[in-house]
Amino acid sequence: MENVTGLRCVNCNSSYRVEEIDYFCPGCGHGEGILDVEYDYRAASRQLNSRALFNNGDFSQWRYLPLLPVRKEYIQHLHLGWTPIYQADRLAEYLGVRACWVKDEGRNPTASFKDRASAIGVAKALEKKAEVITCASTGNAASSLAGFAAAAGLTARIFVPLRAPEGKVAQLMIFGAEVMAVDADYDRVWELCMEASAEFGWYNRNCAVNPYLIEGKKTAGMEIAEQFARREMAVPDWVVVSVGDGCTIGGVWKGLVEMHKLGVIERLPKMLGVQSAGCQPFVTAWQGDGRLRPVNGHTVADSISVGHPRNFAKGMQAVVRSGGAFVAVSDDEIMSAMKRLARLVAVFGEPAGAAGVAGARAAVSQGIIDSQESVLVLVTGNGLKDVATAIRAAGKPRTIPPDLQAVRQLAG
Ligand SMILES: *Cc1c(COP(=O)(O)O)cnc(C)c1O
Ligand SMILES: [Zn+2]
Repeated sequence: MENVTGLRCVNCNSSYRVEEIDYFCPGCGHGEGILDVEYDYRAASRQLNSRALFNNGDFSQWRYLPLLPVRKEYIQHLHLGWTPIYQADRLAEYLGVRACWVKDEGRNPTASFKDRASAIGVAKALEKKAEVITCASTGNAASSLAGFAAAAGLTARIFVPLRAPEGKVAQLMIFGAEVMAVDADYDRVWELCMEASAEFGWYNRNCAVNPYLIEGKKTAGMEIAEQFARREMAVPDWVVVSVGDGCTIGGVWKGLVEMHKLGVIERLPKMLGVQSAGCQPFVTAWQGDGRLRPVNGHTVADSISVGHPRNFAKGMQAVVRSGGAFVAVSDDEIMSAMKRLARLVAVFGEPAGAAGVAGARAAVSQGIIDSQESVLVLVTGNGLKDVATAIRAAGKPRTIPPDLQAVRQLAG
């Protein structure tokens, strides 16, 4: 927290002191007026440089505390971050690239990438003495917030679409969140949550509104940089991230840029944003005039079923500034990628988690990724959150009577 210098609007470039504002730029309003947290990098680099990081034994997201907007006393006990990066040679061969790595974000406490942000949201709510924290979510931000609110003893009031997968809803219930399952799509659920937060003063965890949340997401990018630096390897040519609201890819990119600024890595990767063809507003804008046109879409990858992305600015910036691209993949390709990822790397991703694999393959076949390049796929969430889709992708087992003859027939 001590290195935060202020908040800057990504739309009009106005800057604010942190005491002045909680959420968005008042001049631009929410939606447009997304704020970015700024730091004194020279001060931060005294604690965050290659040598200090190499000697830091705290293998969690909190090793980056000098570039996070929270105070140490509000950090919860759950182990967060420093998720493994696996070298995936058979997946590289399948994708047709020189080398491939998978970073498994399903290894976080509530089994998705969203934990990195929820931990920040809860720490900020405690700092602001809020008793209730709220969010709208396709599922993972909700289950993650429920977990971190339970850790801190805060009340979480959560809005989800009725369609959210059962595994995620089960997490909400077991962590004791107060859940409002709304009979509407995510886009309307999001608006309802914004209205409720304004009306009742609940602390707002929505990542595209609360500028601090994306700071948690950036730690995945910082880890990618540092994990490769420790192996004395350059970061891969491409980092692949599935995209809904745009906060995840925007956050990962910010973390990579900061590590570049601190001299931990020498070059930056290109960012590949992956969407489902059923719901692809970023891809359409990318291929067209660059402007956002919200859509009414749907995809099996519920976590990226976002027709009206709330952080279009930061999501688009990540791809444009990195010299990357957006691609769309079909739901069938996503389900097939779930099987490939599980069978070639032994990582079980939820649909949006495996979508990156499908996206990388599409980008290779479209000539966006060259066969001589290397790729890291961020697997954003664990497959046990949505077993129904996994079974749809992989089928059900055969049933047999309890005798050896039946086994012999199958084995033969
Ligand atoms: C939220 C989420 C995403 C997309 O993140 P955005 O910030 O909405 O772009 C991707 N995968 C999973 C598993 C998620 O939960
Ligand atoms: Zn502004």
